[in-house]
Amino acid sequence: MKNEKSGGGADSFDVVVIGGGPAGYPAAIRAAQNKLRVACVDEWKNRDGSAAFGGTCLNAGCIPSKALLESTELYHRVHEEFAAHGIKVGGATLDVAQMQKRKNGIVRGMTQGILALLKAAGVTALQGHGTLRAGRRVEFTAHDGTRRELSAQHVVLASGSVPIELRSAPFKAPHIVDSWGALDFETVPKRLGVIGAGVIGLELGSVWGRLGAEVVVLEALPDFLAFADQQLAREALKHFKKLGLDIRLGAKVTGAALARGAVEVSYEDAKGAQRIAVDRLVVAIGRRPYSQDLLGADSGVTLDERGFIRVDEACRTGVEGVWAIGDCVRGPMLAHKGKEEGVMVADLIAGRFGEVNYKVIPSVIYTAPEIAWVGLTEEQIKASGRDYKSGVFPFLASGRARALEQAAGFAKILAAQGDDEILGVHIIGPMAGELIAEAVLAMEYSASSEDLQRTIHAHPTLAEALHEAALAADKRSIDSINR
Ligand code: FAD
Ligand code: AMP
Repeated sequence: MKNEKSGGGADSFDVVVIGGGPAGYPAAIRAAQNKLRVACVDEWKNRDGSAAFGGTCLNAGCIPSKALLESTELYHRVHEEFAAHGIKVGGATLDVAQMQKRKNGIVRGMTQGILALLKAAGVTALQGHGTLRAGRRVEFTAHDGTRRELSAQHVVLASGSVPIELRSAPFKAPHIVDSWGALDFETVPKRLGVIGAGVIGLELGSVWGRLGAEVVVLEALPDFLAFADQQLAREALKHFKKLGLDIRLGAKVTGAALARGAVEVSYEDAKGAQRIAVDRLVVAIGRRPYSQDLLGADSGVTLDERGFIRVDEACRTGVEGVWAIGDCVRGPMLAHKGKEEGVMVADLIAGRFGEVNYKVIPSVIYTAPEIAWVGLTEEQIKASGRDYKSGVFPFLASGRARALEQAAGFAKILAAQGDDEILGVHIIGPMAGELIAEAVLAMEYSASSEDLQRTIHAHPTLAEALHEAALAADKRSIDSINR
């Protein structure tokens, strides 16, 4: 649609973004950078009643979980690793209240930062609910109940997602909680149950397990990390078990009831009906798109059978001038995927080039060892029938990883036999989430494994693992035995 500038009235905008999470706020900022008149509407409220931009990611997801993962990893290392360095720390204890205070401070600082970024970019930040009506009108209801109608040339829907509730184990705080609840525990539960061995379940299980909770993870599927490369998944399972996570596969939860202050969880596995008692239960069985009261009956925007807003590859909803991005549309529910969609849409609205390369989106699990990948798994390549080669380099052979006392895991590269194109990279080991960026860049530029082989990597660094994995794909690794 032609990009006509708004008339300039107080409630008339070029772009109104509904949702101020990692999809919505970048869309608003980029649209403002493109010299458009922009409003960003967000209704997030924290448990203390305060309104905050940043959505799930900053308030209840990526950021608080990483803050706690860092604190608990340090605690774990003090107890398990420092002695190997010759450092004796007698009586190291844990102050959960301080750990939570630090996490809350990080969240507060980051969310206030988003508001500052929106303001600095010239975006009108509105805190309250937005509903899309026909003709790109947005009904805005502020948190104090006052209403305004906003009109826009373009509306971007970025309403995000919410945790899925398990009918057989409904949320009942403080005993049966979602991921947000599990980020706010004030004490370390003695026995913690986690339903779902997905990314969120594993991260939360790690947080509390490192602090001494006995963690049982119940996963309905028979395979661990079924969506990941299975060589990597096998390695991960081995390490998580060693760290004390009791991961039970093929265990489908059928019920949870409070009894004498504990949660009795029933599940079914190959042996039949089972039961465990835990002090806290986290339900982490996935998230569903959220669009409650977002779409007026006359908006014209449609949802698919799973509740996602229907969009094409450029995030157009099919209603002229209405776009949708982030967790509320198809694709992986990841903050960086939503961010790139937001930037793409804001650029397309301004008549610029915009595109998201859905084939090259990295995934990271921030456990220890950390897990990260991009592109195809070995199983997917095999199924496609394409000839490929695989190079694996163990961190045990990395001087930097040894110096860090974190030599578990490996870097694995999968490349096409013929033209040597990199098809997938899978890393489990120290800083995997940082290391994967090199693979993402390489794949974005359609690099070959030879391109990585011929790229100089500083020594000794963890990044050399990817270099050596690329060499290993041609059986030319220098620092490991070629198999
Ligand atoms: P959201 O972040 O959910 O934001 C949507 C916003 O829109 C919310 O503020 C909501 O209140 C608001 N809203 C909704 N409807 C309306 C309306 N009608 N009017 C006004 N406002 C509205 N992803 C990663 O990439 N890396 C991670 O490490 C990671 N860790 C995670 C850890 C946990 C525990 C969880 C739960 C999630 C994690 N995620 C992670 C996923 C990530 O949080 C989501 O992919 C991301 O937040 C999606 O961004 P979004 O902007 O689409 O939606
Ligand atoms: P994710 O979608 O990555 O957050 O992972 C959620 C996980 O929860 C998936 O691996 C599901 O198989 C698992 N899951 C869903 N329902 C149940 C259930 N009733 N019992 C145990 N695991 C479940």
